[in-house]
Amino acid sequence: MSNYVSPEYRELQEKIVQLQTQWQESIEPGIYEHALEALSVNNRIPLVMRLTLPVDSKLYLAWVGQLVDLLADSIQGIESPLRQALKSLDAAMVEEWVAETVAMNTYYFEKFAAKYQLPEWLPHFLAEHAIRPYLRVLAQNCESVVQGSVQAEGGQACPCCGEPVRLGQIVDKGEKVLHCPRCEYNWRENRLKCSHCGNEDFETMHFLTVEGEETAKIHVCEKCGGYVKVIDTRQYLAKPAPALLDLDTVHLDFIAQQNGYSPIS
Ligand SMILES: [Zn+2]
Ligand SMILES: [Zn+2]
Repeated sequence: MSNYVSPEYRELQEKIVQLQTQWQESIEPGIYEHALEALSVNNRIPLVMRLTLPVDSKLYLAWVGQLVDLLADSIQGIESPLRQALKSLDAAMVEEWVAETVAMNTYYFEKFAAKYQLPEWLPHFLAEHAIRPYLRVLAQNCESVVQGSVQAEGGQACPCCGEPVRLGQIVDKGEKVLHCPRCEYNWRENRLKCSHCGNEDFETMHFLTVEGEETAKIHVCEKCGGYVKVIDTRQYLAKPAPALLDLDTVHLDFIAQQNGYSPIS
């Protein structure tokens, strides 16, 4: 496990993942059926930007409340200003929060934080974690309208939610499966292919390894400067949630970036 992340932060993230798994059960699995029927296959725009997330504002606010309970235990002094700020969240504001989260508009949430004198990162953190159950149900149902990665600004992204591609796992007979830590969508890809530019020339594709970590490799591409962390989890007794695997391998992101590679090529 990486020592770039404090045990307290790791524990917080683990609790959030557990909550999200519970929350996901209150979403009806067929919730996207009609919206998906109306769409054609498209591998240029992330799916989440082609429909409206059918978020139930009551559920959403309950989830945000549970996140606040968790955070209040670990961060002193945020609970009362935060609860005060969240009183402004009515159904219309929830809709706005969902739309701005989908659009990855960090500026919008920084303005909200400034208005209520909250830590800059906090509103976006809450908004992001509260939509993930909806993203994950979408990811479980999107096979018919997505195909491989989508081309995002400068690199490849998850076809469901638009998160930059950065994490893969080796499965079965050695195939590479890309995993999105955000919505948990996963898709197979040629093991020796650059996940960002599609380069398959072995002379310009390399691996970075870390001493003592036989199961982890960073696939780097000289052609586009992109990287992907590829973890062989075949020997793991329990497979961690992609969000936790991403967090536990954050040192590999540092190493890749120190060596001049970028997840967005
Ligand atoms: Zn995704
Ligand atoms: Zn490349």
